[in-house]
Amino acid sequence: MKTLLVAEYRDGKLLANSDELINFADQLGGEAVMFLVGSEAALPQFAGKLYLADAGQVGEFSPGVHKQLLLEVIEKEPPQLIALPHSSYGWDLAPRLAVALQAAQISEVVAIEAGKLVVPACNAKLKRTTKATTATTVVTLQAGAFTPDTEPAGTPEVIKLAGVTGDAVQFHGYEAPAAAAVDLSKAEIIIAGGRGIGKAENLTLIEDLAKALGGEYGASRPVVDAEWTDHSRQVGSTGQSVSPKLYIACGISGAIQHLAGMKQSEYVIAINTDKDAPIGEMADVLAVADLKQLLPLLTEKLQAL
Ligand SMILES: Cc1cc2nc3c(=O)[nH]c(=O)nc-3n(C[C@H](O)[C@H](O)[C@H](O)COP(=O)(O)OP(=O)(O)OC[C@H]3O[C@@H](n4cnc5c(N)ncnc54)[C@H](O)[C@@H]3O)c2cc1C
Repeated sequence: MKTLLVAEYRDGKLLANSDELINFADQLGGEAVMFLVGSEAALPQFAGKLYLADAGQVGEFSPGVHKQLLLEVIEKEPPQLIALPHSSYGWDLAPRLAVALQAAQISEVVAIEAGKLVVPACNAKLKRTTKATTATTVVTLQAGAFTPDTEPAGTPEVIKLAGVTGDAVQFHGYEAPAAAAVDLSKAEIIIAGGRGIGKAENLTLIEDLAKALGGEYGASRPVVDAEWTDHSRQVGSTGQSVSPKLYIACGISGAIQHLAGMKQSEYVIAINTDKDAPIGEMADVLAVADLKQLLPLLTEKLQAL
């Protein structure tokens, strides 16, 4: 098995998701080579061949050009799998490659089980195991699904690619989102509410417990999508990444996109009516309870201390 890893470089920096790509390839086994449009000044730690094009010359975000360069690499090093991050860069580039190669694309891979790729299904309530039937497969990896326990090591053997220029897409620059009103990344205690809170009014149960513990409150995406709270409170792959000493997940099922943002928490307590909720697999403690009953009791006890 040969895997081609497509690392991502943004705004002059190599993104940490290259470590996840390397861990994915390690889990698969076999040989891995890497492709990067970036800079020699910011190389990944990777013990293998790295095909490098200069971002200053070809453009950091120029999907047509990156595709052409990748096709050159693929001709030299025909891979069975091509792995990209499941990010805006990967979303743009992966289907272009899949079409050019007439390859299957499997998006948002979250695990490997017995050599097969696992992707979420039904809004991440189920998992689907897949195996492509084409000779080459293009995959994108969900953020946080392949975070390694230790950083990869090694110095890559750099092979420079000559610049291809001219793209139908013109890149004009990045636009940073407005600064988050709340910086959850610094909070030591976070109480997060999920869809299980049932309605906007019940968010006060989460806020009250957070206040009683001297912490901040956060939310899963459905709570933000329903406009029960602000996006700056969202934890997960499209929200904030947090690493508090204590994280209490209330009425949160434990979808991979949520876990991606909070799995660095030191101690996790989950409160859920479903004893089989996936969050129970990673939580230190799972309290099988109705949050509407348990949270007011907990808050009252803490306030009385
Ligand atoms: C590209 C993409 C990016 C995403 N980014 C994010 C992200 O950044 N953050 C994020 O959170 N999600 C994100 N999601 C959504 C994610 O896939 C899940 O849909 C979401 O995390 C589920 O939120 P939840 O756990 O609150 O809701 P559900 O999955 O609906 O879970 C609700 C839980 O509450 C429990 N419950 C119900 N009633 C009670 C009660 N009374 N007491 C206690 N427990 C109760 C249920 O048993 C259930 O486990 C993203 C999805 C995609 C496709």
